[in-house]
Amino acid sequence: MPTKKTSASRRKKYIFVVGGVMSGVGKGITASSIGVILQARGFKVTAVKIDPYVNIDAGTMNPTEHGEVFVLSDGYETDQDMGNYERFLNVSIPSDNYMTTGRVYLAVIEKERNLKYKGKCVQVVPHIPLEVISRIQKASEKADADITVIEIGGTVGEYENVLFIEAVRMMELQNPEDVSTVMVSYLPVPSMLGEMKTKPTQHAVRALNSNGIQPNVIIARSSKPLDFVRKEKIALFCNMRPENVISAPDIGSIYDVPINFEKDKLSDILLKSLHLTPKKDSDLSEWKKFTTKTKNATKEVNIAVVGKYFSTGDFVLSDAYISVIEALKHASYTLGAKPKLTWLSAEEFEGAEGKKNLKTLAKYDGILVPGGFGSRGIEGKLAVIHFAREHKIPYFGLCYGMQLAVIEFARNVLGLKDANTAEIDPKSKDLVIDIMPDQKKKMKEENYGGTMRLGSYTALLQKETLARKAYNDEEHISERHRHRYEVNPEYVERLKQAGLVFSGTSPDGILMEIAELPEKIHPFFLSTQFHPELQSRPLAPHPLFVEFIRKSLMQKK
Ligand code: GLN
Repeated sequence: MPTKKTSASRRKKYIFVVGGVMSGVGKGITASSIGVILQARGFKVTAVKIDPYVNIDAGTMNPTEHGEVFVLSDGYETDQDMGNYERFLNVSIPSDNYMTTGRVYLAVIEKERNLKYKGKCVQVVPHIPLEVISRIQKASEKADADITVIEIGGTVGEYENVLFIEAVRMMELQNPEDVSTVMVSYLPVPSMLGEMKTKPTQHAVRALNSNGIQPNVIIARSSKPLDFVRKEKIALFCNMRPENVISAPDIGSIYDVPINFEKDKLSDILLKSLHLTPKKDSDLSEWKKFTTKTKNATKEVNIAVVGKYFSTGDFVLSDAYISVIEALKHASYTLGAKPKLTWLSAEEFEGAEGKKNLKTLAKYDGILVPGGFGSRGIEGKLAVIHFAREHKIPYFGLCYGMQLAVIEFARNVLGLKDANTAEIDPKSKDLVIDIMPDQKKKMKEENYGGTMRLGSYTALLQKETLARKAYNDEEHISERHRHRYEVNPEYVERLKQAGLVFSGTSPDGILMEIAELPEKIHPFFLSTQFHPELQSRPLAPHPLFVEFIRKSLMQKK
């Protein structure tokens, strides 16, 4: 049960990040930033996300509802916060570090069926929290982490995450010096008052107290910095020291959050609460090098992103493409440019009206078509790709963006007017994109969860291609996948003959991983069957994104 002691001198430590007042105020960025500032003190850190959903994983969720599905290198489909952890901590995180209510219950039920509880009555408490604890400990052991940061989805006082909060209480009860709790709260500044209000935070802390937990730190998110009067007020009413209440006003870049936290000495506070002596003074120099670039960028690079998951109700949300956005930022800032992203709905480019809209694309320095599913907006995307190819505008296609580039090429260069993907028109004469045989079977059985090619696979790069050059002449690369369909091997030879270069393939040469046009024909027309955006990090921008932005800057109008 609770906190295992690996050795007398090296006990594993745990920081729980919980939300108060409301969601969407940056719990994931807080958890990630806490990881960064503790790494900077010399500790090995990993991060765990607990989602309250009953879904087993995030694979079947609609991106407009839940945001992007982030695929881990082992193929697990998770919440976008896992992407934040990987980007901030600059490490790859395994699926052990992600759990949902569904996954936890399933594990408990399976154990019960396998007689693992030895005839005991299996109860919601303690068995569910115990399963949660054992999963957290396993993640910590596997990463050999000194400190594990665990983010609990939702906010305190909700019905959904109460068993996860109970796991925190049980862990702390067992080993109080090994567990610290951070509450990310929100302080509204109602416009009719113009004054920051602390009451909702007081209530949230009380709700947490009623679950038997006292937070060690409060991250006070607000539109404005927290003044000393309010800091003292929160401290008094929430039973804590004023210095443990950290001001976290809205800022322009998420990458500044760790630096801001350190201004309030958050790593010292956390380490003290965990009874740990820092291994070194805070060294955020690499991190600061990147954030300085975000501020010093002088030129702008104009990128159009053409997709479909942009709107929900009256709101436009780009959450579904968060990794793409971040990868574009990493590459642009690395090259000293500020990315200006424009979201274009693919449907704007369909029909007679759409044809007129195509001309407006000429003003962009580069065009990107991200991954996607289904038929909505497809003809619009094909028209956009066609325009980018003919007008020599740098084009970067990701997953669906590659499949559609191949279809566009087959239709307009090979003259296969009916060319399509089996996803949209399985009866097409020329299925240049088709389903893989083993996936076909699963789809028939309506067994959709996990029927895709998921996770990291090695690809082989051809010599003297744009891709190989971008990857610094590496021959083998490893990239993450999430798709059901593939370039149909029966068409590969013809596509090649017509001038399309498959610069990356699976090591056996059967699956096409990267399609590009030679540089003498087009400055950058490259697309990937995999999702390069998933492995781009501020301190390690993805080489293909860097090359795309470099070419876009060269094209600059
Ligand atoms: N819908 C396509 C497929 O399933 C592409 C998926 C994607 O873009 N992630 O193969």
